[in-house]
Amino acid sequence: MARIAFIGLGAMGAPMAANLVAAGEKVTGSDRAGGARERAAALGVPCAATAEEAGAGAEVVVTMLQSGEQTLDVWRRLLPRAATGALFIDCSTIDVESARHAHRIAEAALARAIDAPVSGGVAGARAASLTFMCGAEAETFWTAKPILEKMGARILHCGGPGLGQAAKLCNNLMLGVTMIATAEAFALADRIGLSAEALYEAAAVSSGQSWSLTSYCPVPGPVPASPANRDYAPGFLTVLMLKDLRLAETAAAQAGAVTPLCAAAAQLYALYAAQGGAEKDFSGVIEILRGKA
Ligand code: NAD
Repeated sequence: MARIAFIGLGAMGAPMAANLVAAGEKVTGSDRAGGARERAAALGVPCAATAEEAGAGAEVVVTMLQSGEQTLDVWRRLLPRAATGALFIDCSTIDVESARHAHRIAEAALARAIDAPVSGGVAGARAASLTFMCGAEAETFWTAKPILEKMGARILHCGGPGLGQAAKLCNNLMLGVTMIATAEAFALADRIGLSAEALYEAAAVSSGQSWSLTSYCPVPGPVPASPANRDYAPGFLTVLMLKDLRLAETAAAQAGAVTPLCAAAAQLYALYAAQGGAEKDFSGVIEILRGKA
């Protein structure tokens, strides 16, 4: 059993660390926010006051933070303190360049690194049913997999360093855009007099079908579990969708890729966020398209 330091015990990190503890791992968590440490401790995660304390001698370091800057900061501080050859796993969603930089500083410190951002949200973190999209050398991926399996249901090797983040950003680009296309169609149908139920019935078995429609329908009724049925309570926050689309735009600019729909979608989510939707589920963007936000 490895000694695991888990840094970043927020909405996602706390339940993920608790799942490692529940699976019998020896975990020490830490977060710079005292409240986050207290909430994680209440879930059974032993906590240290500082990342340095948690990371001293750790064989595995997991980070679940908000930005590339934070990941690089924590990794720089813990690389000299962790055990020789330690495995550093970053589960945060961050920009591809920072992820690759994190791999480089780990390599320079003779540690192993993997970027392993997740899909599945807070519900998936609690249920240990997350999907991990991993970027690493094959050997590092196979070392990390049994640990990730304690927090998730699908552990995917997407390629070398940074390509887990690339997969996550490309996936969320598809999600962000298809949600807007789906919402736009429902708003149009409403204006023409086509009921949401009739459009759903037709599109769900036709070529308009997507996850945004059949698992996360942006209007109440057709999919009872979707956030639309509870006034767009999250779910997946609009601000987080916006963050991911902006990361995708940055990656596109750096790679010279053309992503006009990503840019348009980011604008619409930004507008929805500015008009009161920031902390609502991203599918509530339909309110903008209906002129209701
Ligand atoms: P969060 O803001 O709830 O948690 C992040 C935690 O990191 C905070 O508690 C913060 O205090 C801590 N932190 C920041 N800098 C630190 C440092 N230097 N040292 C120690 N602790 C530090 O965020 P979250 O919702 O848990 O998301 C974490 C990551 O997962 C983000 O990158 C997010 O984009 C991604 N993500 C979130 C969701 C979701 O539904 N919430 C879904 C998929 C991916």
